[in-house]
Amino acid sequence: MPIYEFHCEDCGKAFESLVMIASALDSVTCKHCKSSNIKKMISATSSQPAAGSTIPAGALSGCSSRSGFS
Ligand SMILES: [Zn+2]
Repeated sequence: MPIYEFHCEDCGKAFESLVMIASALDSVTCKHCKSSNIKKMISATSSQPAAGSTIPAGALSGCSSRSGFS
């Protein structure tokens, strides 16, 4: 289920909310103070594999050809 983590700019507290459709993200309010001044958090578990996979791909193609020439 699409559970998003939010951070409230007004009271500074973090909370989770179930958002079924993307357009509903704008209507999410803080569970603590009912404020709409919130930020959607990027989860650490989803961003780690994407950042790590880009490093080995570029290192292999650029390193093998140049080392064999010289
Ligand atoms: Zn709040």
